[in-house]
Amino acid sequence: AVATGTSGTGSDRGPAGKGSTAEIISHEPATGSEIWRGKVSDIDEAVKRARRAWPAWAAQPLSTRMELLRRFANEVRKDAEKLATTIARETGKPMWEARAEVDNVIAKVEISIRAFAERTAQRKLDSAMQGTLAVRHKPHGVLAVLGPFNMPAHLPNTHIVPALIAGNAVVFKPSEKAPATGEMLARCFNRAGISAAVMQFVAGGPAEGQALVAHEDIDGVLFTGSANTGITINRRLATRPDKVCALEMGGNNPLVVWDTPKITDAAALVVQSAFTSTGQRCTAARRLIVKSSLYDAVVHEVKALADRLIFGAPFDEPAPFMGPVIDNAAADGLTESFVYLLSHGGKAIKHLVRPDDALPFLSPAIIDTTAMKDRPDVELFGPILQVIRVDDLDEAIAEANNTRFGLVASLVGGSPQDYNRFWANVRAGIVNWNRPTVGPAHSAPMGGIGLSGNHRPTGYYAADYCAYPVTSGEMEQPRAVIGVGLR
Ligand code: NAD
Repeated sequence: AVATGTSGTGSDRGPAGKGSTAEIISHEPATGSEIWRGKVSDIDEAVKRARRAWPAWAAQPLSTRMELLRRFANEVRKDAEKLATTIARETGKPMWEARAEVDNVIAKVEISIRAFAERTAQRKLDSAMQGTLAVRHKPHGVLAVLGPFNMPAHLPNTHIVPALIAGNAVVFKPSEKAPATGEMLARCFNRAGISAAVMQFVAGGPAEGQALVAHEDIDGVLFTGSANTGITINRRLATRPDKVCALEMGGNNPLVVWDTPKITDAAALVVQSAFTSTGQRCTAARRLIVKSSLYDAVVHEVKALADRLIFGAPFDEPAPFMGPVIDNAAADGLTESFVYLLSHGGKAIKHLVRPDDALPFLSPAIIDTTAMKDRPDVELFGPILQVIRVDDLDEAIAEANNTRFGLVASLVGGSPQDYNRFWANVRAGIVNWNRPTVGPAHSAPMGGIGLSGNHRPTGYYAADYCAYPVTSGEMEQPRAVIGVGLR
């Protein structure tokens, strides 16, 4: 396999392709020190190994695969603190958040077992005279899982666990910004008895991602990452309808604040939605759309709360609310974006501050962009919240929909009738009322419309893209009658 296509990320951390001796080096954002170093993998070799191992894995009884996945959950439990520490060091997120990510990794196993049974288990639609009509599912084969940096264990895991339960082999390439976490996660699968051929870790950047997508022996790509990369993958697979392609991408998510006497609670939901994980969540609220009459009170409370947020290193005491962004390049890009908004009509409510130019710590920032003519419809993957003032609910909904993305939209406040209107007219895969945009339920489907996804939601519905249905009409003996048209 050779790498083709173009990288959609502009990342310069991805090394060269197959056979390369290039290295991936991962640094801790909070300190700049190295946490992991390794050679990029030979993608062709990895896919061939998975292809050889796949038939025996698919032939295992489902109960065996489920048992091995439960053992995987136990391996993660045993290593929970070590894994959380690695996540915290490698992404810069606070320990409390890294621990929550590990809990989600463990919980995914039982959720996926339930989802498999509910969505893709065998069903018999009986009709006595015609024999039996059965619907069963088969695995696709070898699936590539490409993970993002922001939840480097949980998000790839939401693809890997259902893929393995369904009987696929997996070649897993974590983000080049979080290989230490990816490797540790893979080892938990391997220690549980799922071989390193069936669940394989590969190290690499965009070039290795491209090589995986382009590989003949890959039956599908399960991707979580940015819209640019997702579009590149989609384009590469446009002539390959035989390959399954699940794309979970970003958002430019709106949160609308409407009539409510509970301004303090509304502000807390806004802050939680915008600044959890330093805004590095696909579900983060990027745009606060607020009713004019509430503007002063809401913005005052949001700013006051954002002023109190501690941002710091993962192991600081007292624990920070949020850590740094992933690297200096991301911090530079976000700073440039903030300056762009300021110089194109935005009014700073709270400036983006970078206390140390050598490290990617950024303060939460809030900017009113109501007066901007053309707000760029891009995902600013960091702690920048835009505020837009509107007069009525129709305008608020139109503003919420003023994006090519469509992952999450939340309404805070408003009457049940307002929420009905919002729900019916807002375009997103997750629509919430008086709940934050972040923290989706794992027992439900998770995905978006527009540039946020390709109608293959993950979460509970991941089972759907990990197997394909086979419909069978079945009778123990041939019994055929041609009733008409015989001479
Ligand atoms: P990214 O797109 O830069 O990288 C994701 C993965 O794709 C990495 O493993 C990377 O090496 C690989 N890759 C990069 N270029 C490639 C190419 N041309 N071909 C094949 N693979 C390639 O994303 P990121 O910066 O790591 O993650 C942040 C993004 O992920 C944000 O946009 C965020 O919104 C999104 N995200 C989405 C969800 C969701 O569920 N919808 C969840 C989390 C994050």
